[in-house]
Amino acid sequence: TVVLGIESSCDETAAALVTGGRRILAQRIASQDADHAPYGGVVPEIAARAHAERLTPLIDAVLDEAGLSLGDCDAIAATAGPGLIGGVMVGLVTAKALAMASDKPLIAVNHLEGHALSPRLADPNLAFPYALLLVSGGHCQILRVDGVGRYRRLATTIDDALGEAFDKTAKILGLGYPGGPAVERLALEGDPKAVPLPRPLVGSAEPHFSFAGLKSAVLRAHESGAYTRADIAASFQQAAIDCIHNRLSRALERMGEVSALVVAGGVAANARVRTALEELATSGGLRFVAPPPALCTDNAAMIAWAGIERLGQGASDPLDIAARPRWPLDPTAEPARGAGV
Ligand code: ATP
Ligand code: MG
Ligand code: FE
Repeated sequence: TVVLGIESSCDETAAALVTGGRRILAQRIASQDADHAPYGGVVPEIAARAHAERLTPLIDAVLDEAGLSLGDCDAIAATAGPGLIGGVMVGLVTAKALAMASDKPLIAVNHLEGHALSPRLADPNLAFPYALLLVSGGHCQILRVDGVGRYRRLATTIDDALGEAFDKTAKILGLGYPGGPAVERLALEGDPKAVPLPRPLVGSAEPHFSFAGLKSAVLRAHESGAYTRADIAASFQQAAIDCIHNRLSRALERMGEVSALVVAGGVAANARVRTALEELATSGGLRFVAPPPALCTDNAAMIAWAGIERLGQGASDPLDIAARPRWPLDPTAEPARGAGV
């Protein structure tokens, strides 16, 4: 099996060819970081235009590199949501056109399912069910993954996502966009105990997250002038890690038996986060699985892989399927108080 994957839900334009045997035959990612950096965040209009300009050449490039034509692919998989709707539409419409032209099935992939299944692309031994911490720019959730398309959400954030908290901290500290990697780098030079910062919701009964108060405390610490930026970055990162450690421990208590503790999404690229979660898994007698950092941040290989997993279930989607700006993985989950899905 070979599937062409297309990703365009945020500010990465990406295409990849992945086999059922977990081989990434080719992949390309065009980052729009430089386009959005002057604005300190993603501008949807600029993103949609950039996706439209870059996607087709990227698809041609991966097919070229793999020495394949569309006719050799078993399906075309594209992110159909959630995300910035203009960008999602560019990718989905392109996939529809390719599917129609080549008479291949279309798989409309939930971007979050791409993140959620990416650890199985990286690790052939990862079996269902597993505990998943999904931490990205727009989402912060704990899920029990029972199978492809079978997700039970145990926790979400009542305000900001964890990646968003990293991005806002970077902005406060003047580290530019995108923020996560910059905060991680600066934190290496700082003392994680230097700045007293809150750990919102730590110890509370429900395993939900909250990061808005932490971000405000970062702002106050910075404005006080009493701390170096490196100490603030390190202390913020430590506070965030303490939060996910505590919330995840709580969620695991009510998760039932699972085969592994898994982390995915952009923040899973963070080395300190990975180490902390590995310790938590080990102390609980669980295997720990995290995809390599390049598969944590947005990419098309994970979308192609989700396509392969869904194709394996006999799934395909009609050519008139709509792009969805919002698309929860677990539609039955109650939103946390004050939060959307
Ligand atoms: P979503 O998947 O929720 O739709 P997204 O696609 O924008 O959001 P991802 O690409 O999965 O998010 O992740 C991007 C986020 O990950 C950003 O908030 C970024 O700051 C964060 N991030 C990336 N690398 C790191 C890192 N090394 N440390 C911390 N955060 C990071
Ligand atoms: Mg990005
Ligand atoms: Fe993402």
